[in-house]
Amino acid sequence: MASRAELDAQAAAQATVVATAWAQFQAAYAGLGLTPAQLATNEGIQALRDLFADFIAAWGEVAGTLAADFYDELRDQAGIPGSFQALVPDPLDSAQVDGIVSWAVTPPRDVDELDIETMLAKIEGASQRLIRQAQRDALNESARRDPARPRVARIPMGAETCAFCLVLASRGYVYRSETSAGRNNSYHDFCDCEQDVTWSSNPEPPDGYDPGELYGKYDAARRAAGSSDLRKILRELRLQEGIR
Ligand SMILES: [Zn+2]
Repeated sequence: MASRAELDAQAAAQATVVATAWAQFQAAYAGLGLTPAQLATNEGIQALRDLFADFIAAWGEVAGTLAADFYDELRDQAGIPGSFQALVPDPLDSAQVDGIVSWAVTPPRDVDELDIETMLAKIEGASQRLIRQAQRDALNESARRDPARPRVARIPMGAETCAFCLVLASRGYVYRSETSAGRNNSYHDFCDCEQDVTWSSNPEPPDGYDPGELYGKYDAARRAAGSSDLRKILRELRLQEGIR
């Protein structure tokens, strides 16, 4: 289990990766010298796809490696025996990367020329999500394969937490399995939540993370919604907590 200081350090390191990556992408993009007219051709789009794919593969691996090191350190500190080592899944999903580029280079219907700034803003948002996803995949996949069967918690960071992340954080430390993968592994753009891993049956959460308190909020919203439908509960939580 991580201390608050270790979580903060991991969050800062990952934020640095995202920022450094983006600065490098912008420089490489400028180096291609693509014009809006070229970005309307297959060759231009393919050049951008190649650049973006290499970029996600390289920086996703950096983020994943940081997360794997974090995992190994926590496992070591917990004194878990065995030679298990965290793994870094391949961060590149070619179809997803191609889809993002196609979406970014498509101008709105009533516009005849691509606005480069809008295109880059779309790519920036997606790259942040994909690089952070590589971090989360490394941690979740390692937890799922670890024979010592740890549990993982989503930890809200920063001043504000959205309703969706609050619900997942309220569950505390949970096992990662094939079946739990969908919801536990879904994150919104610019989500700054971190994850913590424990091998203890009775973990003491890091400072500032109180799953019991969060569960109280979830439960109040569930009762007010009069339903176990997640969308209705989220709507109620947003009203009650004044969050997004
Ligand atoms: Zn979040």
